Amino acid sequence: MRQKIVAGNWKMHKNAEETEDLLNELIDKIPNDIDAQIIVAPTFVNLASAVDHLEFTTINVAAQNMHQNENGAYTGEISADMLTSIGVTTVIIGHSERRAYFNESDAILAEKVTTALKHDMTSIFCFGEELKDRKDGQHFNVVENQLCDGLFHIENEDWKKIILAYEPVWAIGTGETASPEQAQEMHEFIRETVRKRYGSNIAEGVSILYGGSVKPENAKEIFSKPDVDGGLIGGAALKADDFCKIATSI
Ligand code: 13P
Repeated sequence: MRQKIVAGNWKMHKNAEETEDLLNELIDKIPNDIDAQIIVAPTFVNLASAVDHLEFTTINVAAQNMHQNENGAYTGEISADMLTSIGVTTVIIGHSERRAYFNESDAILAEKVTTALKHDMTSIFCFGEELKDRKDGQHFNVVENQLCDGLFHIENEDWKKIILAYEPVWAIGTGETASPEQAQEMHEFIRETVRKRYGSNIAEGVSILYGGSVKPENAKEIFSKPDVDGGLIGGAALKADDFCKIATSI
């Protein structure tokens, strides 16, 4: 059985106090026996306090990004060692906002994945097509290229440290969700693409999350699809009730 995962990407939201409040609410509301790994990704400055806060809970903490280099003159950047030194061992890599606004290319993302693996970190590797790609019928090609160019340099044994997150750019923060059928169609394609390159064991074992306007109202139907193993949640992860409803829809 594949690991089910519900992750909240808080993006650039929540100051220190708001982070603590939301974490307290999540600790109260998310059932301990939930059949999914729960991950939250607050901003960098609140990661250390989040790790402390969640120490005796089943909720895990992820970073939203990290630099590909070990250290050096990269003003404003955060390294893998800095993250692991405060107990953060999961990192979101390749979010479409990083690709679009911070020019993160597939080549850079491939380096980030390699760095994460070197530090024994789990990567939540994000990818997904833009609206024009889908309109042009190019969505499968785009996704295949993102996987090949950003991820398929890794070795078989590295896959235990990889979570995939398909996030169609046109569905992020827009209120427009991929239909459960569109999500399933793409997730099946992604698994097939992994299978062709790495074989059935790895393809069947990797968790593939869907992200893009997941809400309490649509989570259950999306999560019911056979190749959807959970979600990467943005806006709805900022409200404890909504995130909890989504998490318990798994
Ligand atoms: P929304 O859920 O706000 O559409 O964001 C999805 C996302 O980008 C998660 O990483």
